[in-house]
Amino acid sequence: MKVYISADIEGITGVTHWDETEVGKPGYEASRTQMAAEVRAACEGAAKAGAREILVKDAHDTGRNLTAADLPPGTQLLRGWSGHPLAMVEELDQSCAGVVLVGYHAPAGSAGSPLAHTLSPLHLLEINGQPASEFLLAAYSAAYVGVPLLFVSGDEATCAEAQRLNARIGAFPVKRGVGGGTISVDVEQALAGIRDGVAAALKGDPGLCRVALPERFTVAVTYRDHPKAYRASFYPGATLASSCTVAFASSDFLDVLRFLLFVT
Ligand SMILES: [Zn+2]
Repeated sequence: MKVYISADIEGITGVTHWDETEVGKPGYEASRTQMAAEVRAACEGAAKAGAREILVKDAHDTGRNLTAADLPPGTQLLRGWSGHPLAMVEELDQSCAGVVLVGYHAPAGSAGSPLAHTLSPLHLLEINGQPASEFLLAAYSAAYVGVPLLFVSGDEATCAEAQRLNARIGAFPVKRGVGGGTISVDVEQALAGIRDGVAAALKGDPGLCRVALPERFTVAVTYRDHPKAYRASFYPGATLASSCTVAFASSDFLDVLRFLLFVT
């Protein structure tokens, strides 16, 4: 059995400020170390439930936060970005029994986290009229590939979003946002919650953890400044909906991912 794990940093235990997510800035090393510990816990949970193969995607910023030395023996690590539209879940395919998301966070424009954002340079991303999170993009990507979404850890808002999509998806909230701050569980609780949650999800019926794809996607990307929106409006099929917003629609989710790859 092969398991796919995608890890971000903004939804990792304790991580609160942008400085703590950026290489070279104060607090980054502590965030990176905790990210590695949470991914290791997810690997241990998967192995405990019988996974013989694990592919970990480092999905934060440069994609080079985790190192091979961080992970248990036998784990494969995908660092950097291939440029494939699946992005945060690139190389996910039907050989995987399920997807696990670690360190995921609330979307741009929401109150769920002081680090709420969607695809960094964007001001706002909406799909079918609702703010869309990186979690939602990963969930729809898994659905598109045809692989169940087993488990997510991150902020409370993301775990609640997962449960709204499909209550069978395992979720362990490690923190919640309070304005510019966060309140986190202790590290041992976080690691145990992730380890046990991943194991339980895999031992359950992964087939019940599927996410339904909408039949049609209406996408709106709102930038801070008009020039970026103007430029993005030349993507085939895109239109300038207002001075800072570009709209795009398709019934094929891969078209949406391809659009986002080129306009963000
Ligand atoms: Zn992110």
